Amino acid sequence: MAAPAETASGTPAAPSAEDLKVYELTQKYTAEAAKRFRPEGLDQFVRLRESGSARFRALAEDPWVDHAALNTKPLVPDGAQHKFIILGAGYGGLIYAVRLIEAGLASGPDDIRFVDAAGGFGGTWWWNRYPGLHCDIESYSYMPLLEETGYVPSKKYATGAELLEYAELLAKKWELHDKALFRATVKATRWDEKAQLWDVEVTEGRGPGEASRELTLKGQYVLVVSGILTTPHVPKIPELENFAGPIFHTARWDYNVSGGTPKDATLTGLEGKRVGILGTGATAIQAVPRLAKYAKELYVFQRTPSVVSWRGQRETDPEEWKTKIVRGKGWQRERRLNQDLYLMDSVEEGQENMVGDGWTEFRSFSAVVGSSKYPIVEPTPEKIMEHVGRLYKLDAPQSEKMRARVESIVNDPETAAKLKAWYPVWCKRPTFSDEYLQTFNQPNVHLVDTDGKGVDAATTSGLVVAGKEYPLDILILSTGYVTPSIGGGSPAVRTGIDIYGRGGRSLDEKWNTQGASTLHGVATHGFPNLFFAPLSQSSQSSNNAFTLDIGGEHIVHIIEKAEAKVGGNAIAEVTSEAEEAWALEIMKRAGWFATVMGCTPGYITSEGEALRQSSDPMEMAKKARGGNWSQGIHTFLALLEEYRADGQIKGIDVVSRT
Ligand code: FAD
Ligand code: NDP
Repeated sequence: MAAPAETASGTPAAPSAEDLKVYELTQKYTAEAAKRFRPEGLDQFVRLRESGSARFRALAEDPWVDHAALNTKPLVPDGAQHKFIILGAGYGGLIYAVRLIEAGLASGPDDIRFVDAAGGFGGTWWWNRYPGLHCDIESYSYMPLLEETGYVPSKKYATGAELLEYAELLAKKWELHDKALFRATVKATRWDEKAQLWDVEVTEGRGPGEASRELTLKGQYVLVVSGILTTPHVPKIPELENFAGPIFHTARWDYNVSGGTPKDATLTGLEGKRVGILGTGATAIQAVPRLAKYAKELYVFQRTPSVVSWRGQRETDPEEWKTKIVRGKGWQRERRLNQDLYLMDSVEEGQENMVGDGWTEFRSFSAVVGSSKYPIVEPTPEKIMEHVGRLYKLDAPQSEKMRARVESIVNDPETAAKLKAWYPVWCKRPTFSDEYLQTFNQPNVHLVDTDGKGVDAATTSGLVVAGKEYPLDILILSTGYVTPSIGGGSPAVRTGIDIYGRGGRSLDEKWNTQGASTLHGVATHGFPNLFFAPLSQSSQSSNNAFTLDIGGEHIVHIIEKAEAKVGGNAIAEVTSEAEEAWALEIMKRAGWFATVMGCTPGYITSEGEALRQSSDPMEMAKKARGGNWSQGIHTFLALLEEYRADGQIKGIDVVSRT
């Protein structure tokens, strides 16, 4: 943020007390962020699966898969052809499949084939089963298709176990449970020009001692719904692999070590043990209170504190459910939109707050999700500074409140000071807990703050911070995932799937040379009948299930209209003119997202790499293309509806497969 303004005569204008305070705050934020930038950026981490250490590679294995049960299922034949191949069987893949079925596009039993590296449905909720896990968005808004299933979530924030069971329920209800190829990693997807179909190259694991199978599936349409936070990584900490005790990542919780089960957080395996947890992001905030209950000593290694707001977890009240939540057809979308109105700082006077939780207090989150209340930010330095300054001002009181919250909960002032977050809320996903901060009042819980530097090294018996060794028996890595914006946000690279379109062109290469290029965030020229879950060039909600739903609805509309034009063998392809026109719309709105420039590094900014300025205008243009719609999900939906109204799917060429 700029220093307080000067008058026309050049003498400094007397800044208001508020301006001065916010200015000082941004100075503090800049200093704290500077401590955390690392020249190696994303290279400070290694994907567990690609580590040079066999021990770390093993940590990426699926701990939940039942190989014996899956091996009894009939083999999916090499060369099998399906109308829709859905890459990913998480909530996203399930939503897409249900929408296809409901639109009558997938009717026969073999029309849909999911392919997923996991051993079952659920995606995020399959892999993550750590104690304390629950959705951070209210389950009534988050859990997909509640209207269609009539399911009543048991709590305002459903547990991970319930979210996983619900994925299975969705699969059963729409008879999708036997339509998935599990334990199957997709390596590549290629457009076969001759057959005018996609070839999906898969390695199917069969379990320990069994040879894996290589097979190629053929699909008319491929839907890439492979998630945003799927690839766990670990910081390259010297000697980490030589730590003598058990190590595991939170995305692959090891209940053999901790004791307990995903449904029962009685972690008796931690009793009498010195436990270290590395990382203090959204995952750690949920797990730490459970660990603190059982570990003899718990060491929480912190590089950057999370913003921790209140949770307000409670059982679903059946009366409230009937009378206030389920309000007739379309209630879930109405609730989702209502929540986003708050986060997008677009609330009208007197408007009801349906969800009424901590999220809805973070109106400055509009810095990353946009707002329908404000016009496009003109790309002049003055206008951008004005916009960024406004958001910092909007954020300051709420961030101050969060820091005051730490002080009011944590008894030891020194520990409290270290737990305060010095960045605006939009730089990292905020967290919500009525237990996390409280655990630091327990005598067995120790905060090891690294002052932004991170852990220096490991030894066989612990972790080293600022020259001091902290002896540990068990080490838990809560160190997150490969950023979804890796490779400029290419839908291919983030899940390790090489996608080759017409003429063998690689999607990653397209993103690298041209930048993000889509129509409405869901499809790209040169890759016919390939659709992907929107990440860039669309509108994002804090509620990922909502973003997925909007993407699915749009994709299904496009396919429906394409088939209406030429029949069931349709090939739909975005024109390059249409994607360039859409890229221009996104670039016009890039000024809005200048708010991230002052952020502390994290996965949202590709560990600070996204904040690096380039003197090459092409590189800066590519960054701008990788942005999102800045005017909020409400206007984005209106735009999509207008686009869909005439049923013509303009900007998409449609032919019939010959
Ligand atoms: P995922 O659920 O990630 O599923 C993608 C699937 O694709 C995975 O099963 C994966 O195995 C598979 N896959 C990926 N690559 C390949 C490949 N190459 N080959 C084969 N299979 C592959 N968002 C919210 O809005 N609210 C929340 O409360 C929330 N909580 C979260 C908690 C955690 C711990 C994490 C990690 C994320 C959370 N998210 C949350 C984000 C969450 O990922 C989304 O809400 C949502 O579940 C994503 O659904 P998806 O189907 O798109 O992706
Ligand atoms: P994050 O990437 O948010 O957190 C990783 C943590 O590891 C950070 O605290 C990071 O510090 C720390 N770290 C990394 N390297 C080092 C190092 N060398 N030394 C010390 N600390 C280090 O991962 P999470 O799994 O916590 O969360 C990822 C995302 O998943 C969330 O943002 C959210 O979107 C989603 N999620 C949602 C949940 C929900 O509530 N339902 C629960 C869990 C996750 P630093 O911040 O400095 O980089």
